[in-house]
Formats: sequence, C-alpha cells, structure tokens
Amino acid sequence: MSTCARCGEAFEPSRRGRPSRFCSDRCRKARHQREQTLRRQVDRYKDLAAQNPEPYRSWWQFKAAEAQAELSQLP
Ligand SMILES: [Zn+2]
Repeated sequence: MSTCARCGEAFEPSRRGRPSRFCSDRCRKARHQREQTLRRQVDRYKDLAAQNPEPYRSWWQFKAAEAQAELSQLP
C-alpha cells in the first residue's frame, strides 16, 4: 500500500508504469492546480514588488517568498 501525498489516504498503487504518489486523479489534479496557482502568485507578487516603492515592495517580496516556500513544500 502507498499513502496519497495529498489527502493521506492509503491506496493500492498500480503495478504498471511509474508508481503514483496520489490515490486518485482528483488528488493528482488538485496538487497540479495548487502548483499552477502558486507559480502564478509568485510571478505576480514579484511583478508587484518590482513596480511598487517601499514599503509595498517589501510586502510583495514577503508574499512572493511565502508562495515560493509553499511551492517548494508541495508533495
Ligand atoms: Zn488522495
């Protein structure tokens, strides 16, 4: 048995092909969507940091770092 990297459910991995880290298409897609959202946020926040003066710049840099950190911790 494997454990789903998103919801934590135990599941029986398929014996063929690359072993999945997710119990279902739903979890796989949710993980993918979260990644896309976070990537967009990082880009957007970096743009905003570049376009704004202090103290807004620091705030957007902080938001970008926060999204980046979550991105690097995705399963
Ligand atoms: Zn799952």
